[in-house]
Amino acid sequence: MERLARVAMGQARALLMELHEEPPVSLERIAEYIGVEVRRHRFARCEPDAFVHKTCSGWICYINSNIHIPWPRVRYSLAHELMHVRLVQAGAASGSLFLASHSENVSSIERACNIGAAELLMPDDWVLHWWHELEAHIPSRVSILAARCEVSQRALSVKLDHLGLCQPMETDLLRMVGT
Ligand SMILES: [Zn+2]
Repeated sequence: MERLARVAMGQARALLMELHEEPPVSLERIAEYIGVEVRRHRFARCEPDAFVHKTCSGWICYINSNIHIPWPRVRYSLAHELMHVRLVQAGAASGSLFLASHSENVSSIERACNIGAAELLMPDDWVLHWWHELEAHIPSRVSILAARCEVSQRALSVKLDHLGLCQPMETDLLRMVGT
């Protein structure tokens, strides 16, 4: 795992521990804890689901209030933006353009924020525990866990893949329903 991804992973885990959060994680609570104000905003078409910027009075994260965007997608984007802030606060990235320090580039910081966001919403230990607990509920455990984490089944399947847990039968089902 890249250095920045490890930092993001560590930051996500520390936040969950400090706030005693577990899925479904309250991102609003985490945002408040790290000093980010979350505002809903109706973007024009093709705008991002969320973006964060720093003002003279602090961090503000705008999330897209368009009701046609699935809530799990907005949540994932918010978690991603919070990780950008956290990496800056941890001194691992610079504030203005979210550029990584030293030799890292923008794509490595984006990857790190995705890994941190996935950990924030679907902690490895928690997913591993419940994946095995729900053994009797194959094949619906993917949808059960995704609903508990308030993430899309696709986001969960990426996490399961990273953990080496995605089983062929369940992967096929995910493909069939196109999630
Ligand atoms: Zn980003």
